Amino acid sequence: MAIERKTIAQTKSLPAPNSDFYQLAETLSAEEQAFLSQVRGFMETKVAPIINKYWVEDAFPFELIPAFKELNIGGLGIEGYGCRGGSALLFGLAAMEMSRVDSSIATFFGVHNGLAMGSVYATGSEEQKQKWLPQMARFEKIACFGLTEPLVGSGASAGLTTTAKKEGDMWVLNGQKKWIGNSPFCDISVIWARDVEDNQVKAFIVENKTTPGFSVERFKTRLQ
Ligand SMILES: Cc1cc2nc3c(=O)[nH]c(=O)nc-3n(C[C@H](O)[C@H](O)[C@H](O)COP(=O)(O)OP(=O)(O)OC[C@H]3O[C@@H](n4cnc5c(N)ncnc54)[C@H](O)[C@@H]3O)c2cc1C
Repeated sequence: MAIERKTIAQTKSLPAPNSDFYQLAETLSAEEQAFLSQVRGFMETKVAPIINKYWVEDAFPFELIPAFKELNIGGLGIEGYGCRGGSALLFGLAAMEMSRVDSSIATFFGVHNGLAMGSVYATGSEEQKQKWLPQMARFEKIACFGLTEPLVGSGASAGLTTTAKKEGDMWVLNGQKKWIGNSPFCDISVIWARDVEDNQVKAFIVENKTTPGFSVERFKTRLQ
């Protein structure tokens, strides 16, 4: 029996790795699929060429913020308020495209757009949504999401120690948070605290640079 010998040049190259095993991206609308390709293009042309420098310098790539704005991705998954909109699936696949190139950029976006903007959209008053969501969608105000505490992580729903006390028309928050992505450089923080009046956990929008008594200590991420 003759054995067919193939030269290396003749073998087909393997398809590019694609972790969308169920081809979910193909269930998106043509417009959403086009946007997903834009996100991949953004990560490959704007992020990949510069990001290692920021890893080495242990710094945040602020130079990317205008490009994020240009990509018009702010408010992905949120309807109205100057947000991009789109399905939760599109958000998930866009996050996958970001993580494919750099997980920290995916975390930056996930915290700002998913956790912080998502909290304002889901639980904020109409006045708060009108005030903050458009600015956050334009990346003019960057946000963080402060739930976890030094002694409370998974048990945040029942164990939060940060308290909130209403005094006149002000709220006084008291406590500490830990592991809060974006907190060293963001403009506003969505802080979760337990109202001492009714023991309910509530979220508060805190302006980092102008709120008395609010401070952020940056983690030393390597031997410095
Ligand atoms: C890279 C990174 C970014 C983060 N960014 C943010 C952020 O932006 N904002 C924010 O608020 N938090 C953030 N976190 C914190 C994250 O939400 C917490 O790490 C998470 O909630 C777990 O809490 P913990 O680390 O205190 O672990 P623990 O809650 O102490 O859990 C330790 C282990 O015990 C297990 N465990 C806990 N409770 C139980 C139980 N009842 N039964 C059985 N097993 C249990 C857990 O599954 C885990 O395996 C971030 C964390 C990381 C690592």
